[in-house]
Amino acid sequence: MTTTFAPAQEPTRIVIVGGVAGGMSAAARARRLDEQAEIIVLEQGDHVSFANCGLPYHLSGEITAREDLILHTPATLAASLNLDVRTGHRVTSIDKRSRKVTIAAGDHTYALPYDALLLSPGAVGVRPPITGLDHPAVHTLRTVPDVDGLRERVEELLAAHTESRPAPSAVVIGAGFIGLEAVEALTTRGLAVHLVELADHVLPPLDVELAPLLATELAAHGVDLHLGVSAQAITAATTADGTITPVTVALSDDATLAADLVIVNVGVRPASALAAEADLDLGPTGAIRVDVDQRTSDPYIWAVGDAVEVTQAITGARMPVPLAGPANRQGRRAADSICGRRTTPQAAVLGTAIVRVFGLTAATTGANQATLRRAAIAHEVMHIHPGDHAGYYPGSEEMHLVASFAPDGTLLGAQGVGRAGVDKRIDILATAIRAGMTADDLAELELAYSPPYGSAKDPVNMLGFVAQNALDNTMPQWQAQDLDRAMADTLILDVRSAAEFAQGHLAGALNIPHLELRARLSEVREVAGGRAISVYCARGPRSYLATRVLLSEGHDARSLSGGWLTLQAVHPDI
Ligand code: FAD
Repeated sequence: MTTTFAPAQEPTRIVIVGGVAGGMSAAARARRLDEQAEIIVLEQGDHVSFANCGLPYHLSGEITAREDLILHTPATLAASLNLDVRTGHRVTSIDKRSRKVTIAAGDHTYALPYDALLLSPGAVGVRPPITGLDHPAVHTLRTVPDVDGLRERVEELLAAHTESRPAPSAVVIGAGFIGLEAVEALTTRGLAVHLVELADHVLPPLDVELAPLLATELAAHGVDLHLGVSAQAITAATTADGTITPVTVALSDDATLAADLVIVNVGVRPASALAAEADLDLGPTGAIRVDVDQRTSDPYIWAVGDAVEVTQAITGARMPVPLAGPANRQGRRAADSICGRRTTPQAAVLGTAIVRVFGLTAATTGANQATLRRAAIAHEVMHIHPGDHAGYYPGSEEMHLVASFAPDGTLLGAQGVGRAGVDKRIDILATAIRAGMTADDLAELELAYSPPYGSAKDPVNMLGFVAQNALDNTMPQWQAQDLDRAMADTLILDVRSAAEFAQGHLAGALNIPHLELRARLSEVREVAGGRAISVYCARGPRSYLATRVLLSEGHDARSLSGGWLTLQAVHPDI
């Protein structure tokens, strides 16, 4: 968007719509920059500055005290920052011409002039086309009252539970970040949880190679997964076994799930109705258009958070990215701009995100493979399964990293799942993407190492090494997605041990353990009969060594990225 704006005004009254992540960041920063300004925060709900990211952990009982979620009150904000915070005040319209907002507060409506207006109204939950969503057993998880209602219901159910009856049950619709947190919380509280997701895997932003690890973890904790189906109707019902539950959830595959409560969290859309009615520019996704200083198409109005468009770092697409980090940073930037200070212009957003699913952590940054394919961005994908720290030091946990690189080696995106160390690696890789780093740069990163913490060749270095090898053809790769072609046109060579081979292998594969390969090269040549050779092992390293041997013998050989482990994730039926 190219917009020329009037120079920043010297506002005397800054009015902020929305008093949580972006809005409160902006209010606090504006006060720190301008002691004289009148700063009024208008929040339609009863709470400001609450930790919405902490709500699932209050539901689970890990955050025991409700007060811990509410970081400030209007009184503490008045005392500490001299802010005029008005809860229960909903902005109903914006008059750009006279620079006034209209506010509904209970029975009372009033107009409030502003010098600078900042919009941080957040997002609204998408209401899926399911009949019966208004049943009282159906909840969502977005606000403090939401979690209050859920906790009350869970307590009631647990109190009524007796040994002779099955555990109370819940259906969670939507296996995104918040849906998974809700599943974990309800399971921890002792409910039997069914999880329904329209996509064919949990956590749809995760690449298909990693999602099955989460599905396995969920199943291991008793969660009943329904993937690739939609919930269609929620009805009050009595189940076939006579158990009375508030509702039955009917799925698109004709299954029905009895539940004592239902949580619907299927995503959000920008809360941009107010901006639209004020005729501010919106993008095609319905998010508010802003410039690099968060200013909207009106020179006196700024906007931040879930309601605004950002530029996706890898594809350049304009879209909302509903995450707390960007919202908080944008709030700070908007305040800088409103107060006429030098701003740090909005950088393109990576969408770095993380979630805990019982014992596993899943995290992502940059573009996933589906996004790269849709945007027709050439890329090569690497899969590695390193330990979080040196294998010889007790307690090393395997992690699973997937990363995509451009043909010139630039890192485009990375994802990880594991029991330890995933957060650190994804944060490093997010920083690397922001810095425009390549495979060579990752290979040379100097990271803190001692056996309890990492490896002399950190998983991030390993990603760099593997990508260097793949991109310069030291180790040509084949991918699990290429299986049909590899089976049809090439010799499949399994270089695992005979015992591993016996436990499961690709049909028609020749098994030569990698340590025997040099002695059995003539056998390989004979069976290959001039065909290319697709090599695999369990996780990648042995097939890399074998591929090097075969290449030096003049074969056209490729190593399966991520090995049998990745192959099984992509093709669970092999
Ligand atoms: P919000 O923080 O949602 O604030 C918007 C406020 O504006 C709301 O309180 C709303 O009532 C108010 N408002 C709207 N319209 C009006 C109006 N007309 N008048 C007055 N007030 C109005 N992100 C992460 O990065 N990591 C996480 O772990 C994470 N966990 C989350 C867990 C949950 C349960 C939820 C709901 C969100 C989570 N998020 C997480 C997302 C993150 O909370 C949001 O991206 C962030 O809060 C967006 O900030 P915002 O200021 O745009 O909107």
